[in-house]
Amino acid sequence: MYDYLIVGSGLYGATFAYMARQKGKSCLVIEKRGNVGGNIYTEEQEGIQVHCYGAHIFHTSNKEVWEFVNKFADFNGFINMPVANYKGEMYNLPFNMNTFNKMWGVVTPQQAKEKIEEQKKESGITEPKNLEEQAIYLIGKDIYEKLVKGYTEKQWGKKCSELPPFIIKRLPVRYTYDNRYFNDVYQGIPVGGYTQIVEKMLEGCDVKLNTDFFEFIKENKGIAKKIVYTGQIDTYFNYCFGELEYRSLRFETEVLDCENYQGNAVINYNEAEIPYTRIIEHKHFEFGTQPKTIVTREYPMKWSQGEEAYYPVNNERNNSLYSRYAEKAKEEENVIFGGRLGQYKYFDMDKTIEDAMKTARAELDK
Ligand code: FAD
Ligand code: UDP
Repeated sequence: MYDYLIVGSGLYGATFAYMARQKGKSCLVIEKRGNVGGNIYTEEQEGIQVHCYGAHIFHTSNKEVWEFVNKFADFNGFINMPVANYKGEMYNLPFNMNTFNKMWGVVTPQQAKEKIEEQKKESGITEPKNLEEQAIYLIGKDIYEKLVKGYTEKQWGKKCSELPPFIIKRLPVRYTYDNRYFNDVYQGIPVGGYTQIVEKMLEGCDVKLNTDFFEFIKENKGIAKKIVYTGQIDTYFNYCFGELEYRSLRFETEVLDCENYQGNAVINYNEAEIPYTRIIEHKHFEFGTQPKTIVTREYPMKWSQGEEAYYPVNNERNNSLYSRYAEKAKEEENVIFGGRLGQYKYFDMDKTIEDAMKTARAELDK
């Protein structure tokens, strides 16, 4: 019998497993995919680390989390500065003085503020109730229409007027010429990719790949004293209150016989007519000089059972459905629900680690 059966080898499961091993606990990790790492999994091709489940840039302001990940890899100092392509016009992101200058020709922060204030006034919005209103309130109608509307509606498969405002608040708005996408103090990409981080975290654990929890548990009921479950919470309860909504993605990756395809790691495609949201050129995450390059187009997709669930859709309907599942989860005394799918939360990597550490400490110090 193991102390813990950990379902899912993503960052949450791996962090918990590492903390449990540090306390001398035995862990069995089961993973339904053919590899460990969940969505942070990277794989080397043509000498380039390919982010197989979408671009992952590590960023945090939590020193403990930063020191923790640095135990498992060196980080290369990469700073994400994506560029938006709207019908061939290139705009810097996040929304900053470079964006405002390109959009309106304004030069000073005062001029940019006046322009945004004017568009905000025209819209009549005083208390933004949805993403559309929030975006116009923050950056005006022009930027909303060119850089937010098409991208967001593709990404989420819903009208901006039906989405919660918080999603757009993830992006900084700055009145400086600063193109760094994240405000965090510590940022970078692990030299040699993310997979090694998870592999190192899982040292000393037994790991079974290609193993789905629901099949496995039928034959192995008493295999562990406790379960840490990082899969979808609604699936765990057999969708008894109904399906939570997720957004899925399809990645189309190709090796190109050229050294530099787009000149940046991430280029967003913001108009509605282009079906993908972004193209990632993986080598630029690690300042690569290989003769070839690898690019991935990211196509948002409707989720249905059996598809990979990448993003929770945290609108009111889903959040209140989730609280019913979370209430029911409390009755499962020997199961801890964690991670993006287990807690139905839009966690970045640092928040995933932070939360797994907190839960592991509370659990292991009992
Ligand atoms: P996951 O990585 O989803 O791991 C869960 C694991 O459980 C998966 O491996 C899954 O196969 C397995 N599993 C599920 N159900 C079962 C089952 N029934 N049986 C067995 N195994 C099961 N964060 C950042 O900080 N920076 C970024 O730039 C960034 N970019 C992102 C881009 C994309 C496209 C996405 C989708 C996410 C991004 N994130 C980013 C967030 C980051 O991926 C998450 O914070 C992190 O991966 C969450 O880890 P997790 O363990 O909770 O979930
Ligand atoms: N967003 C946008 N235009 C862009 C980039 C992002 O409107 O060019 C919006 C979009 O709604 C997205 C949100 O900002 O869902 C958060 O963006 P982020 O880059 O954090 O998304 P993620 O990396 O999590 O997919």
